[in-house]
Amino acid sequence: MEDFYSCPVCNSDLKVIDNKFCEIRSELVFNELEFRQYLCEKCKHSCTYHNVPLDIIYKAETALATDRELGDFRKEFIKRNLNLSTIDGLAIEIGGGPGELAEDLRSECGHEKGIVVDFVDRVSFESLNFVHSDLNDCKDHFASSLAEYNIKHKRNIFVLSHVLEHIFKPSELLSVLKEFKNSYFFIEVPDFGVPHSKLDLRYSINCPDHIHYFNSQSFLSLIQNTGFNIIAFERQSSPLVPALRVLCNASDLINSIGDYEEHLQLVSDEIAEIINKHSATHSIYLWGLSAFAAEAIRKTPGKVKGIFDTKYEFDIFQNIHVFKDPVNYNFMHGENPVFICGSTFSVVQEAMRNKLAILSPDYTLLTVPYE
Ligand SMILES: [Zn+2]
Repeated sequence: MEDFYSCPVCNSDLKVIDNKFCEIRSELVFNELEFRQYLCEKCKHSCTYHNVPLDIIYKAETALATDRELGDFRKEFIKRNLNLSTIDGLAIEIGGGPGELAEDLRSECGHEKGIVVDFVDRVSFESLNFVHSDLNDCKDHFASSLAEYNIKHKRNIFVLSHVLEHIFKPSELLSVLKEFKNSYFFIEVPDFGVPHSKLDLRYSINCPDHIHYFNSQSFLSLIQNTGFNIIAFERQSSPLVPALRVLCNASDLINSIGDYEEHLQLVSDEIAEIINKHSATHSIYLWGLSAFAAEAIRKTPGKVKGIFDTKYEFDIFQNIHVFKDPVNYNFMHGENPVFICGSTFSVVQEAMRNKLAILSPDYTLLTVPYE
């Protein structure tokens, strides 16, 4: 294992702190011990350097599963946030040991086979295939170890339950996983961002085979800095095992603000179409001088008779008179007005409809459809 020289999450300075408990436990299995527990001064992530040979560490502890006797809410969390029937790839548990969660998800997805990736085969379900990978040295081998399944571009559900805290460079493993662009990832680690009471000792989560001690800040930062999108986050607390869990995907980061250019064109065209449709037979009133309405008016010169808007500052827009509200407006005798809503905001539309209903049962509000 390599030593840490700065915070593996935020790169800030580390200070050495005590972790006498793990130090004594390590000494009991390896007597030439070098042991340092670090704490990041900024994000409060903690990590351990020690020179205990890995075969000793792994032999002693890792075969033991997390105690879920008081409840296991992992599958429920995944199902609440992801429609498993859309998973056309595989359920793949990384560092999954016997593979209970992989098996659960496999059956939930209706798949014939699932996969457990681990450093040693401890799989205990017929329907799970074992794939060997050293997660501490995965950069060049991980993707190729799964190549025969041909799932790189499919929607897979990867599960990393209590795995990242065991790995020297969790960011390296996450980077490798990010190559599975269309997949989803469930990741859970013990939560060290809350005080631990004596009650929490039943979970033995402060132990020499844990290299990383995450809080919500360092956990989410690590995942987000690798470029994953968080879909859902949940914190589980005592008396259950204190844990942080996320569901995320690896799709490229976007900002949907760009979509609004298209919406402006489309909705103003639709409003203009309503105006054109009724202008020969009705007097047209636009209610709500939104950006959509302003564009629609520019596209239909001379067709709108009046505008109602409470916020517009002036009396005239594009040579059309602007009034506050149809309630105090004097419609001409025999006038056949049609009211076209300029807003797509449902709450505004509802308020307008209620006002119109009071004015006359013959008046209706025309709106553009949402779909
Ligand atoms: Zn840090």
